[in-house]
Amino acid sequence: MNKLNKFGILFFAFTLIFAVFAQDSKTPVFQGQTPIREVDTTTKPIENQVRQVFPFEEDGVYFSNDFDGARLNQIEKTGENEYTILITPENAPINMSPWYAFKVWSNKKSEINVRLKYPDFAKHRYSPQISKDGRKWKLLKSKYITQEEKGEGDTIAATRPKRIVMRLKVSQKPLWVSAQELQTSKHVFAWMDKIAKKRNLKITEIGKSKLGRPIKMLTIGKKDSKNMMLVISRQHPPEVTGYLAMQAFVEKIADKSKLSKKFRKDWAIYVIPLMNPDGVDNGHWRHNAGGIDLNRDWTKFNQPEGKLVSEFLKKRQEETGGKFYFGIDFHSTWDDIYYPMGKDQTNSHMPNLVHDWLDKIKEAIPNYEPNIRPTQRLKPAMVSRNYFYFSHKMEAIVYEIGDNTPRKFIKKKGKVAAVELMKIMLARQNAKATSASAKSY
Ligand SMILES: [Zn+2]
Repeated sequence: MNKLNKFGILFFAFTLIFAVFAQDSKTPVFQGQTPIREVDTTTKPIENQVRQVFPFEEDGVYFSNDFDGARLNQIEKTGENEYTILITPENAPINMSPWYAFKVWSNKKSEINVRLKYPDFAKHRYSPQISKDGRKWKLLKSKYITQEEKGEGDTIAATRPKRIVMRLKVSQKPLWVSAQELQTSKHVFAWMDKIAKKRNLKITEIGKSKLGRPIKMLTIGKKDSKNMMLVISRQHPPEVTGYLAMQAFVEKIADKSKLSKKFRKDWAIYVIPLMNPDGVDNGHWRHNAGGIDLNRDWTKFNQPEGKLVSEFLKKRQEETGGKFYFGIDFHSTWDDIYYPMGKDQTNSHMPNLVHDWLDKIKEAIPNYEPNIRPTQRLKPAMVSRNYFYFSHKMEAIVYEIGDNTPRKFIKKKGKVAAVELMKIMLARQNAKATSASAKSY
């Protein structure tokens, strides 16, 4: 063994020891998603909630799950001024994202304790948001929350409690309690109408969900342009923070700034803000009305929602003779994280666009270290990003926002992401035009 090799091994050993210690002393971090396995995406039965008011007449206290986005499966009185709510998923196995939303009111002003209980395989995840009108939300202060059976471990998920008890102030006016801000199909479509009116954009329907809700699309930019990009969000119902980032991203592209106007002269941007309206309105944890994780169905297309998008992409390319250069899919998870394709995946219409873009985002936000995890696993290609890349040669990314990322920062990140993307795409396009005209000499 030569000197260099010995040094190399020693260096490696030290790095390993350091890494282990560094890991130990840190607070738990999100470890990234576990490897995705091939799953059967044919329709499975789901359990629907009974929508109703749950009365506790002798206490004069009432709960309701009778509204879009609600989830409250069972409730019982478990003590003086104490009620325990059971939250179960639409079906199982399922990702650990127990969504809940309910309303509560009381004949007289009082304080009550409400426990959220989940099936054995799940833990509490979302910090409760409260609202007086279902529109403006704020986090319930942590002093009003008791965690029960808090977990231990080195991931955020592991440290979550089994259950929580919330202390709520109730009165005759209903109090809304929800896992995240309610953004149901009604809210999403109202946002689409508003921005369409303000910026003179077109809204179309590419088809219907499993239960017949419209899958709506917003079109921004140059009509019939050959330069196209796709934006989708809310395949997974509880992932509201990803949706909020998508809103900021789209609002920036559609605004009156010089850059955005210039970008829109050449580009057509197709936006589907709500991929899973049935799941959202029915308060699902994860799946669509077919009981399937839509982001595992991008090879088989057994469910209508993803299939509509794939048909749209093919049709639009045929009609315009153009290409989709970029596809972005907004999600939420424990922490902010970007999942691009690997840097070696250069078989796209704009090679390395996404990685260059992520570098620019990092530069544009001072003191911000983006968490970038290029995917190493290309098969199975059943997630949207891999489908965009393999089937349409799009530069593609899963853009994840943390459940608890401050809402102001989500907006900022969404906006910066749009600005940097437009800049880089315009620059790439100019470079292409220049080299094309050079060739023609
Ligand atoms: Zn997701």
